[in-house]
Amino acid sequence: MMQRRISKAINIGGVTVGGGAPIVVQSMTKTDTRDVMSTVRQIKDLEDCGCEIIRVAVPNREAAKALAAIKKAISIPLVADIHFDYRLALAAMEAGVDGLRLNPGNISQPSKVKAIVEAAKDRNIPIRIGVNAGSLPKTSDPKLSTAQQMVAAAMGHIKILEGLDFDLIKVSLKAFDVPTTIKAYRDIAEKIPYPLHVGITEAGLPRSGAIRSACGISPLLYMGIGDTVRVSLSTHPREEVIAAYEILKSLDLRQHGPVLVSCPSCGRTEVDLISLAAEVEKRLLNIDKPIKVAVMGCVVNGPGEARDADIGIACGKGKAVLFKKGEKIGVVEEGDFIEALMREVDGF
Ligand code: SF4
Repeated sequence: MMQRRISKAINIGGVTVGGGAPIVVQSMTKTDTRDVMSTVRQIKDLEDCGCEIIRVAVPNREAAKALAAIKKAISIPLVADIHFDYRLALAAMEAGVDGLRLNPGNISQPSKVKAIVEAAKDRNIPIRIGVNAGSLPKTSDPKLSTAQQMVAAAMGHIKILEGLDFDLIKVSLKAFDVPTTIKAYRDIAEKIPYPLHVGITEAGLPRSGAIRSACGISPLLYMGIGDTVRVSLSTHPREEVIAAYEILKSLDLRQHGPVLVSCPSCGRTEVDLISLAAEVEKRLLNIDKPIKVAVMGCVVNGPGEARDADIGIACGKGKAVLFKKGEKIGVVEEGDFIEALMREVDGF
């Protein structure tokens, strides 16, 4: 059992982040925030696949104006992502957002930061400080490693908020480079009590980006570091949520729908195992319950894994053996493999 770093718990629109609460899955919309209908549609889609906090970019006043209507139409906490302009932060809070992502050191005057912090305090709105390796402050010390510069930048922002007696803080330190990201999070985890949002920034297209994200996020989570996650992918954000849950499920940190075990197939396989597993994966997308399903390609090694799953199938030539909770429950003919398996899944 891995030991989690116990951070200070904060509440973002009813969702607890930190303090040992379940690790929260987040994503960010890719629509124009001014387009309320498209943004709400995308958020609803993300809610359906398990997104628990959603962030939207607020680059201008029109986007800030749209926030109230977006907030009204969705069921998960809404975080406004704001750079530089304090008026947008005030407008976002006025519109009812549940959290801000904003770096106070990037706001030009202390009085403006104070105005934001006072409004956030009044409404109990947490602020996430988000430092990215690609946009370090010009004042960063080049003699330090990138990870050290990221930590120093975050500490600077944190100090500003703490100086205003504000502690509803969450922090992220993201880089594309995995070792840099891990070093930065490990370092800051020892320095501050606040919850950490972990992720690899600009991780890339779905295949390579999901792998890169898993390589960066998993070691941190395994070390107990991380209270919320986002997988950043150049595709529909639905894939980000699915990938985040796959990471959390792989580490036994969250349960979320089915887990599919499928063998890679080999020269011993006598069915089209790859198509079979792909079809089962598709069908399982509609299942909510946490269930382990195994699709195996032979009766040599297949039964072992199939038995270990809640429901399993070990396929031989023209026939397959079905297992439920380790017990053989029947033999099915080819052509009925998927239906027979799914009948058991549905009835489990
Ligand atoms: Fe090959 Fe059987 Fe292993 Fe699948 S379970 S990879 S078919 S030996």
